[in-house]
Amino acid sequence: MKVGNQKVVTLTYELRQKDAQGQMIQKVDKDKPFVYLFGVGSLLPKFENSLSGLESGEKFSFELTSEEAYGEPTKEALIDLEKSIFEVDGKIEDDLLIVGNQITMQDQNGNPLDGIVVEVTDKTVKMDFNHPLAGEDLHFSGEIIDVREASEEEISHGHVHGPHGHQH
Ligand code: ZN
Repeated sequence: MKVGNQKVVTLTYELRQKDAQGQMIQKVDKDKPFVYLFGVGSLLPKFENSLSGLESGEKFSFELTSEEAYGEPTKEALIDLEKSIFEVDGKIEDDLLIVGNQITMQDQNGNPLDGIVVEVTDKTVKMDFNHPLAGEDLHFSGEIIDVREASEEEISHGHVHGPHGHQH
């Protein structure tokens, strides 16, 4: 069976900076493979295009420019926030506002949004909400472990159920 829309794909991959010799960013191996419903738009389009049509057992290797991946970092994603936002019960945890710390916050719609503390002043905190991989060219390599039909329930939910998938 080939990778395509409405298929559940199980795969391993290595993500490196720039090219096959680049620094390793993430490794997903067979013990805990990546399982996902192909074609629901949750992944980078070029990532899906590059896997489309492969069969289980096939290996892949491809590169994404930063433009095809997470884009360039923007100044708009650097945001100054009132320090009081970080208070819980009127207090800020001692080790929270340290430059380089990643803090999970919420956007206007209540979705989780990770930011990095870049500067702390008396009253404000500058946070960087750029994607951590913004500006990076990426290299993916790996292997398709399994391809199966998605169930109707999985298709209507837009995600995978069962082992390695969404449990409910
Ligand atoms: Zn579900």
